[in-house]
Amino acid sequence: MHCPLCEEKMIEVKTSSHYGIPILLDQCPHCGGLWFDEDELYRTRLGAAAEVEKEIDLASLSKTYMNSQAKLLCPRDRNPLTPLSPPHFYDRLEVKACPVCQGFWFKSGGFRAFQAERAKRIQSAKGRTPSPQDEGKNRIFDQKIKKQLMALMEYNATLELERERAEKEKEQNLNLLTTAAMIAWRLVRLLALKK
Ligand SMILES: [Zn+2]
Ligand SMILES: [Zn+2]
Repeated sequence: MHCPLCEEKMIEVKTSSHYGIPILLDQCPHCGGLWFDEDELYRTRLGAAAEVEKEIDLASLSKTYMNSQAKLLCPRDRNPLTPLSPPHFYDRLEVKACPVCQGFWFKSGGFRAFQAERAKRIQSAKGRTPSPQDEGKNRIFDQKIKKQLMALMEYNATLELERERAEKEKEQNLNLLTTAAMIAWRLVRLLALKK
């Protein structure tokens, strides 16, 4: 699998779930971007980001890659990644998601920001520092985000359908015009032959 940002072959980095089950994430050795397959993002235990993102030398990263506005394609299925922002995602966080396979793409440092935001929310909900079990059980935020994500995907799918319908209509109109033109041309030739 290749990095959506710089096309570099991604490497697997090992981390674990809230309950210690191993999870393998894909990370670009060049830009430090991270790819999460569906559900991996929410299953990864709190605090994993500091370890996973440490492996990349942030200072050596190219600033142009970090700030790229390029349209990114899903590394799994090559569909365009959709940027998620409020109300579909946490405030101030830049993340892109694939509407087809539902994977998430974070640029370097984004995963750390995501986990920090989550810890903060859980903490304010519980009134104390969350334990790994708290975090594992706390599905409120996940479900909320997932619901919003699904709504966004549904919206994108509707747009896609609309576009397809409009294109089909245009093509049909064009076909009608072509047919009419051909009939007219035949008539003209027939008339010319009769003379
Ligand atoms: Zn990269
Ligand atoms: Zn995808």
